[in-house]
Amino acid sequence: MNLDALAELHRLDRARLRMSRVSNILQWDQETYLPPEAVEGRADQLADIEGVAHQRAVDPRIGTLLESLGSTSSAPAGDGSLPALERDFLRVLRHDYDRATKLPQDLVEEMARDAGLSQAAWVAARKADDFASFSPHLRKMVSHARRKAQCWGFVQNPYDGLLDQHEPGMTEGRIASLFDPLAERLRSLLKRISAAPAPEASVLGREFPVSDQADEGRAIMEDLRFDLGRGRLDLSAHPFTTTLGDQDVRITTRYFPRNMASGFFSVVHETGHALYELGFPQELRGSCLADGASMGIHESQSRLWENVIGRSRAFWLGRFPRLAQRYRGILDDVDAESFYRAINAVKPSLIRVDADEVTYSLHVILRFNLERRLFSGDLEVDDLPAAWRAGMRELLGVEPDTDADGVLQDVHWSMGAFGYFPSYALGNLYGLQFWSTLVQDLPDIEELLRRGDFSRPLDWLRDRVHRLGRRRTPEELIQEVSGRPLSADFFVDYLERKYADLYRL
Ligand code: ZN
Repeated sequence: MNLDALAELHRLDRARLRMSRVSNILQWDQETYLPPEAVEGRADQLADIEGVAHQRAVDPRIGTLLESLGSTSSAPAGDGSLPALERDFLRVLRHDYDRATKLPQDLVEEMARDAGLSQAAWVAARKADDFASFSPHLRKMVSHARRKAQCWGFVQNPYDGLLDQHEPGMTEGRIASLFDPLAERLRSLLKRISAAPAPEASVLGREFPVSDQADEGRAIMEDLRFDLGRGRLDLSAHPFTTTLGDQDVRITTRYFPRNMASGFFSVVHETGHALYELGFPQELRGSCLADGASMGIHESQSRLWENVIGRSRAFWLGRFPRLAQRYRGILDDVDAESFYRAINAVKPSLIRVDADEVTYSLHVILRFNLERRLFSGDLEVDDLPAAWRAGMRELLGVEPDTDADGVLQDVHWSMGAFGYFPSYALGNLYGLQFWSTLVQDLPDIEELLRRGDFSRPLDWLRDRVHRLGRRRTPEELIQEVSGRPLSADFFVDYLERKYADLYRL
């Protein structure tokens, strides 16, 4: 066993992680406090720091040391002589190192330049509702993504190579086997819901003072046991979570006077991400293992707290009296049950980020279906707007009048981020499958939520999910926690139960 080589490899990994977090600090500041005149200077600082971070990630000494420890692209965990924790370390570092080094420098630079132009073109195209002005850029980003997948390698088709970046081990075929039946059951549920009388939800559009909303935001994150000694909540245009150090996880939100639910649930969602990041054990901290098992697993944590807990009846039976107290004069004529119904109203809409729990995954499935066809050669970029409208009609029963509200609504494709959307819906599936085991282990969970005792579910998640960081692939983790391979059944069963009750189906 070559202990010197292993120690050196850990040192290089920590150095790499440190620099990427310095970059996170600069980005966090840019989104929260940076004065407008400083934006240009910040872009130069970021470019420099990201250059250094990239150099550290592709340091050839990492490759040499991995090899000396028996870790290769085909046998990433080494020869088996090391303890399990170190074998996991080698496997994940090899994965990251291969991802970072297999792309030629000229492709990386070309992609970065074109992504900048493409994003700017997207902003203008969306504003002018002019897809044609954006399509040449999008074609270029698709072709870059194809080349990227070729460099990384893939199971059957280039799209698999792109998916693996966000969901290690996931393939198009596996996702289709989950999403196709999911779409069928969600559409049928949506049809039944749409035929039932809609709940009264206008209470959410009343005016709630932003300063009270900010107090409530801080209160809920602390109630959920976000440790303010190891993080902060700030304001930004778009809510996000970022890790700035081993003991420093930041979240952001924004508040709208006439949409109180948006700010509240953003805080709960981002707190879910942050609790995961803060839950990695000491033995993983400062290494590549101290991260989410995948983007979808990360999303499972945020969505569990936001939807399964935060939009549950038990949660609001306990919390609503305090909320009504805070918003005296605004919520006096509302009770817990009608508030619970209002925050769970279902309405097919054009925009994914505003979607409810039932329709959200359908938005994601639309994008997955378009992406897989783009990369199989079955769909051309120029045909996207029409395919989008047809997909919306089929899946959600609504159709945008403009491309701005249709194919141009999300920024991701303009940046070349393909294979990223499925993680959003996979997060729902992972989350409910974890939850199915949690409720067996904590049969009094509803009572706990009613009492506002969130420490038991959090401790359970820490023990079963957070503790492992990236030591398992998503499929391994789900198998280990639930004893079954990933399935859409837990998620749809949950929705069918919840909405049959809510809409008296
Ligand atoms: Zn999220």
